[in-house]
Amino acid sequence: APGPALAGCAGALGAAVAVDLGAGSSWRQWRAGQTGGRFAGMDTAATLRGFALVLFGVAPWLREPGSTDEARGLERKDSSETRTKNALPPDSRPSMSVRMKRIRPYPDIVAQVEENFHGRNSVNRRNRALNKYNAMKGKGLLSKQPEPSKLDVLADELDLARPRRIKQVPCGLPDLWPEPDPRYPEVAFAGRSNVGKSSLLNALTERGSVARVSDEPGTTNMLAWHRTGKIGMDFVDMPGYGFATRARVFGPETIEFVKTRPNLRCLYVLIDCRFGFKVADHEWLDELGGRGPIKQIILTKCDLLRPKVLIKAASLVRADLEAHKRVERKLLLVSSHAKTGLHELRCDIVRRVVGAKSESDLAGDADEQPRDLVTDAGGAD
Ligand code: GDP
Repeated sequence: APGPALAGCAGALGAAVAVDLGAGSSWRQWRAGQTGGRFAGMDTAATLRGFALVLFGVAPWLREPGSTDEARGLERKDSSETRTKNALPPDSRPSMSVRMKRIRPYPDIVAQVEENFHGRNSVNRRNRALNKYNAMKGKGLLSKQPEPSKLDVLADELDLARPRRIKQVPCGLPDLWPEPDPRYPEVAFAGRSNVGKSSLLNALTERGSVARVSDEPGTTNMLAWHRTGKIGMDFVDMPGYGFATRARVFGPETIEFVKTRPNLRCLYVLIDCRFGFKVADHEWLDELGGRGPIKQIILTKCDLLRPKVLIKAASLVRADLEAHKRVERKLLLVSSHAKTGLHELRCDIVRRVVGAKSESDLAGDADEQPRDLVTDAGGAD
């Protein structure tokens, strides 16, 4: 901003004047003592003027750093007003880089990134921690590790599953969609084109080839069902959205599918961690409103940002999702390339799918998320 910069220049100039007049007059006083001449006196008023300018210059920097709300482009107001402001078109907010500078990270996101080695260079950091762990284990310094939970076991089974495609139909032909089968609860994956959806779906099941990967934006233009018999569930691969030429592909039928499909347990919305929420993401979530299943945000390509930057980017996404209904507040962070966060995502899928089949099955599991992690700003439309 030019304001503080100009004030800074004025401050620097003031400081120079103060030093010149203040120190200069001291020097003249000393010379006058030496030569027995007359001393004109220190120019106190000019010195004070200089100091006032200095204060004026540094004042903007002495100000408290902006609050988290300010960084999110919000004024500090009560929660209902905050929501209304948040619902404004994202264009009316400061740019992402400005918000990135101002955001104060959420402590749970900091812990999540650090504990799971998310971010650039994650493989090396994970290996170093593993070596340390093995060394301590070798020396018998570790207490006995707890048995893996049932959820962990099922997540590992999902990893080894071989999903196969059972149906692939164009979005606009609802008559061709398979009948909902209660034995196969569904989870759907959606995101802007090129967000890394195909790569993630492929990485989720190491042996399956759920979706094809392409460098070309928007090549997946069908709704595709992939079934895994091992867990008893279907992945629904939804087309990418957000490119002008594909705007109509992701039409009202697909929105209706998400809103009304009885089998759908969760909609995973993928967001590229480098760009955060874009207009297309806001539009799509606004369109869904409080209808349909719970939405879970997944931040993709987390290996591309340094951990500190990733923490800020994830915090911005968390701040942005407050504007939407029925969205889980906890974010999932993944990288299909570095293979981080995949186990957590598998656990999340299994928890929703198996939980849907037998609620009591996983009762008391440590990974069960508390109710207050869900934003439910107003419930159904
Ligand atoms: P889709 O259009 O959403 O299906 O995206 P793709 O899965 O085809 O991925 C688009 C591009 O992003 C490809 O060049 C991928 O190699 C790249 N990509 C996908 N996932 C990751 C990731 O986790 N890390 C990095 N660095 N690149 C990724």
